[in-house]
Amino acid sequence: MKILVPVKRVVDFNVKIRVKADGTGVDLANVKMSMNPFDEIAIEEAIRLKEAGKAEEIIAVSIGPQKAQETIRTALAMGADRGILIKCDDEVEPLAVAKLLKGVVDAEKPDIVILGKQAIDDDSNQTGQMLSALLGWPQGTFASKLELDGGKARVTREIDGGLQTILLNMPCIITTDLRLNEPRYASLPNIMKAKKKPLDEKTAEDYGVDITPRLKVLETVEPATREAGEILATPEDLVEKLKTQAGVI
Ligand code: AMP
Repeated sequence: MKILVPVKRVVDFNVKIRVKADGTGVDLANVKMSMNPFDEIAIEEAIRLKEAGKAEEIIAVSIGPQKAQETIRTALAMGADRGILIKCDDEVEPLAVAKLLKGVVDAEKPDIVILGKQAIDDDSNQTGQMLSALLGWPQGTFASKLELDGGKARVTREIDGGLQTILLNMPCIITTDLRLNEPRYASLPNIMKAKKKPLDEKTAEDYGVDITPRLKVLETVEPATREAGEILATPEDLVEKLKTQAGVI
């Protein structure tokens, strides 16, 4: 069984985002970039399936600039077998990403694609669902548990108010939620070994996909800064403020 895991290079989750002075987007100059955290969970899940003898090969694919190679190398150091970089210098929107991934699926014929539920830079939460629609494959989104048995995938999903379990025919699309697993760190020997693992380079033209953006960003602004809190001496002071300032009682 083959597993395909799309991994996106995004601003590291610890970085405090700065908006460019002219408001045209987020400032990426000298900013630490990492693998999208939900994609680390997807890679970890694929590795666990391989370790359990349920998968033979894990392919990590990234769509992005040359530097997205580093993200693929991280996936290879964690335990993926080979990588594919689809080189695109500009931001690629979820629909174009999904079309490119469909091209990879048609060429590689994986049994499962495990994506993150969302990329933490655009927060779109669209790519897995769009890929599922383009392929006509069933989807198990926001998975917090995944079990494979007899050509079927049993997926426990986190939904409002509880957990839902669904049974999917394979091939299928899975998207990962935070509680699916805790991703491992790559060891130094594995980081060295990853340098020798195969990494193919492709372009959007290789898959015949037009990646021209369909959306136009009109403005990017910093969130409003929160006002400092105030410590009050007595409950009476609080009641007074709720009456006179907040006007809620
Ligand atoms: P999104 O729909 O943008 O929130 O992304 C959901 C998931 O799609 C991510 O967690 C990745 O698994 C995958 N994905 C999105 N964009 C890319 C990209 N440029 N390269 C590789 N995978 C991507």
